[in-house]
Amino acid sequence: MSMFNKKTIEDIDVKDKKVLVRCDFNVPLKDGVITDENRLIGALPTIQYLVEKGAKVILCSHLGKPKGEAKPELSLAPVAKRLSELLGKEVYFAKDDNVVGENAKKAVENMKSGDVVLLENTRYRKEETKNEDNFSQELASLAEIFVNDAFGTAHRAHCSTVGVTKYLETAVCGYLIQKELKFLGEAVENPQRPFVAILGGAKVSDKINVINNLLEKVDTLIIGGGMAYTFLKSQGFEVGNSLVEEDRLDYAREMIQKAKDKGVNLLLPVDHIIADKFAQDAEPVTTENENIKEGYMGLDIGPKTSENYANAVKNAKTVIWNGPMGVFEFENFANGTKAVAKAMAESDAITVIGGGDSAAAVNQLGFGDKMTHISTGGGASLEFLEGIQLPGIVALNDK
Ligand code: AMP
Repeated sequence: MSMFNKKTIEDIDVKDKKVLVRCDFNVPLKDGVITDENRLIGALPTIQYLVEKGAKVILCSHLGKPKGEAKPELSLAPVAKRLSELLGKEVYFAKDDNVVGENAKKAVENMKSGDVVLLENTRYRKEETKNEDNFSQELASLAEIFVNDAFGTAHRAHCSTVGVTKYLETAVCGYLIQKELKFLGEAVENPQRPFVAILGGAKVSDKINVINNLLEKVDTLIIGGGMAYTFLKSQGFEVGNSLVEEDRLDYAREMIQKAKDKGVNLLLPVDHIIADKFAQDAEPVTTENENIKEGYMGLDIGPKTSENYANAVKNAKTVIWNGPMGVFEFENFANGTKAVAKAMAESDAITVIGGGDSAAAVNQLGFGDKMTHISTGGGASLEFLEGIQLPGIVALNDK
């Protein structure tokens, strides 16, 4: 069973069919106003295609964590309004505190081909995150076909991502998931080489399986950010007050050994930007080498390291990146992250950003459109890199 060869909306006939589409409308809201509508814009191609093909399009999504209660501040009503404007066509909001209630049923019954209905927040129902059959069945009863286009929740087996496929035989992916499978999937399964992975972020413990799995696949593994100090300490370097996970020192040693055994080039920082406190206004000091003196902590990779990492990117044919190289939220400690982003932007390689903070950093720096692919799911793309089968994708029909 391959996770990559899944049927898409283009492989099926949707004309006059009721199609339930799981979207990712989990947008940030402030006082009922959507503050970042990228996810709505991202969902448009799939919705537009289905509308043009004459489907009856029933959209659903979660928003935030209402924990099984109908919390009015987490209603999808603002999404229906904004989506109508973006589509240039009415998105009828089927307001129902229990999601599949009288309003939803009536709205769906009255749909004509090409109409669009949005259901209420699926997490208003406590069954949703437990993948309980009754709610899956209710959702499925509205439609004849299921389309999943929410990559951000594909690593979770919920009613609206997995449960419904028990009751709807035809289950395919939309354009967003198709694109994630193409770029993340090809990078991990069939990369053009040299294949370089760059991992950063705060903690080793969050990336244990990612490091282990990527060492099986890459030619070069680059480590930066807070987790580099556990690796350096495991090799006997002085790390001062830097972030270190004492209980991961053995693991770090094992991974360094594994890299040697596999012939993977493992790159660690050779210099750092350090400070005597963790603060925006901390004075940045550049070290001469790997060692960090007492009373100081590493907050970014140093200039020699940035150059090494940029060179590795320059020579690559495929690069994937997850996690910042330093505390990029503080201006004085953002240069390492910027250098990596810039090297990727200037490269001709296939460049894939694995969501989360690195996606935010790349967009902030204005490099977004220079990357081959920026994943829309932080957690999901990490699990992808761990080699885990994502249940929301496994559940879809194979080609
Ligand atoms: P993650 O969520 O694991 O990708 O980690 C991202 C966070 O790691 C960001 O908020 C960074 O500020 C933080 N980070 C990166 N480098 C360091 C460092 N050297 N020391 C402490 N925190 C760091």
